[in-house]
Amino acid sequence: MDTVWVGNVEIASLFDGPLPLPLWQFAVPVHRAAMEGAMRHLADEHGQVIVPMRCYLLRTEGRVVLLDSGFGPRPDGGVVGCLDRSLRNAGVDPCDIEVVLNTHLHHDHVGWNIVDGADGIPAAFFPNAEHVFQQAEWDYWMTPERLADPANAHLRRSVAPLPDLRPVRFVTGEVTIGRDLTFVSTPGHTPGHVAIGIQSSGERAIIIGDASHYAEQLDHPEWSPVWDADPHVAADTRRKLFDEAEADGRLVAATHYPGTGMGRVVRLSGRRVFRSVAVSQSGDRDPA
Ligand SMILES: [Zn+2]
Repeated sequence: MDTVWVGNVEIASLFDGPLPLPLWQFAVPVHRAAMEGAMRHLADEHGQVIVPMRCYLLRTEGRVVLLDSGFGPRPDGGVVGCLDRSLRNAGVDPCDIEVVLNTHLHHDHVGWNIVDGADGIPAAFFPNAEHVFQQAEWDYWMTPERLADPANAHLRRSVAPLPDLRPVRFVTGEVTIGRDLTFVSTPGHTPGHVAIGIQSSGERAIIIGDASHYAEQLDHPEWSPVWDADPHVAADTRRKLFDEAEADGRLVAATHYPGTGMGRVVRLSGRRVFRSVAVSQSGDRDPA
């Protein structure tokens, strides 16, 4: 298990699967040529860049909290998630997870909420968890029109059944969860997108979800991918997140960045870059 401590909070990075995406989608047309010039080497012969999907497991105040729930167990855009295996390898049973926090309601962030139970009846994969959603994000997606959209099968499958199966809590804005965690408003990718801020014993971290998809955005926050609902708001969100992270050196964890997705924003030769942090494999208290 790849873990880092932030004060008294342990953060573990859990792989759920590889997500192949066409390079051209990584920037809107006005910035596409510049983006492709800088990132073409990352694409394979089919013009695809593979980014990881990661969930983050937090241990805080004796509770186990999961941030986002991945693709899920069914083929989703050709990907079958492996969060179940990553949890097992980390020695975590789905029954152990008490809270599932959600950054936004895209398909690769909600998939393990619901699995097929006996006789194919939908069942909660985390049978003891409370699920926490931002009210604005829920209200945006869970309309009759969006639920009926063929592109939103994940909402019908992995989100809509949840309130009948598990406690669901809706919060608005920058609400604190327990002592150490706070929702941070980071709109743009979706209207109600949130990051999770961590503050413990004088140390800080932020898990930014899909506020940024690739580290080249540190130097080019204006490079909004086509998946950002509002490219201008998303760019402003990234500028603010990166300014703060560079200023105080807080740990940044990003769902789709390479490796564990955990690192710091540093400036080298006038450019912002992402420097991965060393992780502990054991969950020991003193990572290298
Ligand atoms: Zn995502």
